[in-house]
Amino acid sequence: MPFNYPKLKHPQNCSKCAACMNACPLHAITKIDPFEVDTSKCAKRKECFTCAMACKTGALVIELGNS
Ligand code: SF4
Ligand code: SF4
Repeated sequence: MPFNYPKLKHPQNCSKCAACMNACPLHAITKIDPFEVDTSKCAKRKECFTCAMACKTGALVIELGNS
């Protein structure tokens, strides 16, 4: 089932601030350098943009993908 999950689309903009990781209510972002998402956790929260909104540099985007 496809769902929206975060991708580090612009890694050159990432300041490694960990705001995305700290913002995720499910602790689905497990690493920021390199960036890793536990998609099975993230999938439990559909239409969530919390991490992307926490990212002030625009490095992180929510993309449609597969679980
Ligand atoms: S989209 Fe929501 S659940 Fe998924 S990693 Fe971001 S904050 Fe966590
Ligand atoms: S919030 Fe944005 S800049 Fe900060 S670690 Fe996450 S992706 Fe990188």
